[in-house]
Amino acid sequence: MSLVPASRAKRLKARVREMGLDALIVTDIFNIRYLSGFTGSSACVVITPENAYFLTDSRYETQAISEMPGNFKLKIYGSNWIDGANELFKRLKPALAGFESNRLSYDLHAKLKKAVKGTRFTPALDVVREFRKVKDKAEINYIRCSIEALESGFKEVKRRLRPGVVEKDVAFCAELAMRKNGAERLAFDSIVASGPRAALPHGKASDKAIKKGEFVVVDMGARLDGYNSDETRTYLTGKPGALHKKIYATVLEAQLRAIDGIRPGAKAADVDTAARGVIKKAGYGKYFGHALGHGVGLEVHEGPALSPLSKDVLREGMVVTVEPGIYVPDWGGVRIEDMALVTRHGCEIITKTDKMLCLL
Ligand code: ZN
Ligand code: ZN
Repeated sequence: MSLVPASRAKRLKARVREMGLDALIVTDIFNIRYLSGFTGSSACVVITPENAYFLTDSRYETQAISEMPGNFKLKIYGSNWIDGANELFKRLKPALAGFESNRLSYDLHAKLKKAVKGTRFTPALDVVREFRKVKDKAEINYIRCSIEALESGFKEVKRRLRPGVVEKDVAFCAELAMRKNGAERLAFDSIVASGPRAALPHGKASDKAIKKGEFVVVDMGARLDGYNSDETRTYLTGKPGALHKKIYATVLEAQLRAIDGIRPGAKAADVDTAARGVIKKAGYGKYFGHALGHGVGLEVHEGPALSPLSKDVLREGMVVTVEPGIYVPDWGGVRIEDMALVTRHGCEIITKTDKMLCLL
């Protein structure tokens, strides 16, 4: 793990100033990692227009020193950095402090309010998340490495998936391959959903044995150096019938149509509409309930959102999934998911596993 660039905290200081804040309290652990490189699980970052403070407890002292770029003022507080934040606030006396309203504990909020009587608190939820939507070169490289580990898992799926095999066993073999190829952990619980279970968009691998003539949706992800990957393929055990062919072809066409529309300046909602339109036209609109895709980075689900209500506009350097699906209750389903990197003029599909209907 190399140091994160000092420019991230610097940029945030400028943003804090622009927003008219005297301080921004960052308590989301993924945002903290993004800004400081800290890979531990308990810390707080306070950004003022002039300074970047990093607060943690003594368990993490050595780690924080080695992971962090030099532009942070490191403060170590016994066993609880909340007291440290309290002290820092007493000293800074910010008039207006932004905080991440979905991540600031009640406890910390109460203490900070007590520490400085005059401070006004205002939610500033998406400041760092907005930065994280666009990946830099190093982040893209981590994501590519994460995908490599993930795709060793898909090779294993192709080798193992047969009628008679249990879903969980397929997942286990794939997960082992991912770990052997560099994944530090899974990005999420692997989905191996066969037959009628393939109609569950999030059907975790179960004890069900895979039968002949079933669609099997396999959705997996790896995490490497903190960065995630996420990909889905659907397999068919046996010969395809007319309905298998039609549904698979529709999902694939929807996905390709969406990918065609991914470029800087494109509205994320329009990319969703492109895919949704293909599925609606084929008569399966009500069987595609979820959003088309999401950003992937330090979290497996982050911004931007590719959904009908999304306000995001795509920019070069964003990494998004494109994952249309059709789920027919009690029958089965198909999802095809790739990761796209938005490039200067379009996009690059950075997941490489073959996506023609794979018959097993
Ligand atoms: Zn997925
Ligand atoms: Zn996904």
